[in-house]
Amino acid sequence: MKGMVQVYTGNGKGKTTAALGLALRASGAGLKVFIGQFVKGQEYSELKAIEKIPGLELEQFGRSCFIRKEPEEEDYQAARRGLEVAAKKLSSGNYDIVILDEAMIALKYQLFSFADLWQAISQRAEGVEVIITGREAPKELIDKADLVTEMKEIKHYFQQGVKARVGIEK
Ligand code: ATP
Ligand code: MG
Repeated sequence: MKGMVQVYTGNGKGKTTAALGLALRASGAGLKVFIGQFVKGQEYSELKAIEKIPGLELEQFGRSCFIRKEPEEEDYQAARRGLEVAAKKLSSGNYDIVILDEAMIALKYQLFSFADLWQAISQRAEGVEVIITGREAPKELIDKADLVTEMKEIKHYFQQGVKARVGIEK
């Protein structure tokens, strides 16, 4: 069976949560899932949860702080290493699903190119499902993906000054 390429994008909340929900469901079905988190290096609660869930693996490829203006050498190195690791996981045949969380953010900052990302995706083992999350999906990815969901922000408490909360956003 063909593994699909799914994209969760848009400004509204729910992109990473949707990907993690899918990982949880997959674990229940006995599937193996690799989650690579790009740009992120902070402590997210999902790291602790995933250790306890069979079939799920997570690795972060980012620094412990957000990119403010221009990315630094370390940001490039972390993202490129992430893409290398992800490419190996994708082609290994050891995983049913590979999630590239915030890969769109890495693309936006040009930490790697779309061509490099797509090469890794197109060389995946047969049947591997790929999930890519992040705001501002580029048109070329939207064109190539099998499924694209846009999380549309109608309202967000971030606008009221509510920062990311443990267990809800992080
Ligand atoms: P979630 O992980 O909750 O599913 P997401 O993956 O859809 O969210 P991201 O764009 O990855 O969303 O990250 C949202 C994070 O950025 C949140 O922690 C939030 O606090 C912060 N944030 C900053 N600006 C905004 C905004 N305008 N709308 C929503 N979140 C924002
Ligand atoms: Mg996210």
